[in-house]
Amino acid sequence: MSHETVYAIASGKGGVGKTTTTVNLGTALAEAGERVAVVDADLGMANLAGFVSLSPDSTTLHDVLSDGASIDDATYRITENIVAVPSGTSLDEYADTSPEGLSDVVAELRDQFDYVFLDVGAGVSHETVLPLGLADAVILVSTPEPAAVHDSKKTLELTERAGGKVAGLVLTRTRPESDVSYDEIAARLETPLLGTIPEDPGARESVYAGTPLVVYRPDGPAATAYKRLAADLAGIEIPTTSNESSATPDGDQPTDSISQSDDTDPDTGGSSASSTTDGDESGGREAAHDDVSSAITEAESDT
Ligand code: ADP
Ligand code: MG
Repeated sequence: MSHETVYAIASGKGGVGKTTTTVNLGTALAEAGERVAVVDADLGMANLAGFVSLSPDSTTLHDVLSDGASIDDATYRITENIVAVPSGTSLDEYADTSPEGLSDVVAELRDQFDYVFLDVGAGVSHETVLPLGLADAVILVSTPEPAAVHDSKKTLELTERAGGKVAGLVLTRTRPESDVSYDEIAARLETPLLGTIPEDPGARESVYAGTPLVVYRPDGPAATAYKRLAADLAGIEIPTTSNESSATPDGDQPTDSISQSDDTDPDTGGSSASSTTDGDESGGREAAHDDVSSAITEAESDT
C-alpha cells in the first residue's frame, strides 16, 4: 500500500468544518504517537491558530512565502507530537505572498513529520487550487447541505486539474435524525465516504476554549468520529472509549469511517444514484456542470 502522508483538507464552500477537521485529525494522530504538522494554507482567511491557542506574533507562513523566512521559524510546537504553521492575518501581508513557495514548504515538512495536514481555503482561487496538487491526497469536507455538496464537486474537479488525487469525502455536522443518505451523497460525487462527523456543540465550545475537540471533549460524538477517521487514514488503532455514541437509531447511516467502497465503486459510476433522480435533480446537474466549467476558467485566468 502506498503510504499517503500529506493531506489537503479542502472544500468548495467555507464554514463547513475544514479547520476543525485539520486540527482534530492532526491531534488524534499526534496523541497516537505520530509526528504531525498542521499548516494553515488558508492564506486569505487564516484562523487555525485560534483553534489551538496560538498567537503567532512573529513569523508566519506569510513571511515564509513573501520574504523567504525559514519554515522552522514559522513552526510552533503545540504539544509533544504536533506543530502548527500558522498564517498571518493581515491583508497587507497576504497581498505579498506567493503561494508557489508552498511546494518547498510541503517538501520540507514531509521530510520532518509522519503526517502533514494542509488546511486549504475554500473556493477556486489560485492559492486554494495549488495545495490540492501538492498533497498526496485531498480530503473533501462538506456538510450534507445541498449547496455545500454542490460546491464540493468543483473542488473535486479542480483537484484533478491540479494533478492531485481525492481520497474521499468527510461529511460534517451530520444529524442522526436526518433521513439524508450520506452514502448517496458520496456516490453522487463518485468518491468514497471516508467518514461522518456528527453535529456536536462541543466543536464550537472547543474553539472558544482554544483546545482541540479531541482533547476538550474526547468522548463526545464528534471527537470519537475524528479518532476513528484518523485511525482509518493511518491504518492504526486509536482507542475510543465510547463504541456506540455515534450510532444511529435505525442503523441506516454509516456512523464511522468504514470503507464504503462497494457502494461507491467507480465502475458503477453512481448510476444507482442517477437512476433515482427526477427533473429537478438533473437540472441541478446541468447547473453543476456549468459551474464547474466556469470555476475552472476562473481558476485558470487567475494563473
Ligand atoms: P472551515 O474551516 O471550513 O471554515 P470550521 O472548521 O471553522 O470551518 O467550522 C465552522 C464552524 O462550524 C465553527 O464554528 C465550528 O465550531 C463549527 N463546527 C465544525 N464542526 C462541527 C460539528 N461537528 N458540530 C458542530 N459544529 C461544528
Ligand atoms: Mg477554516
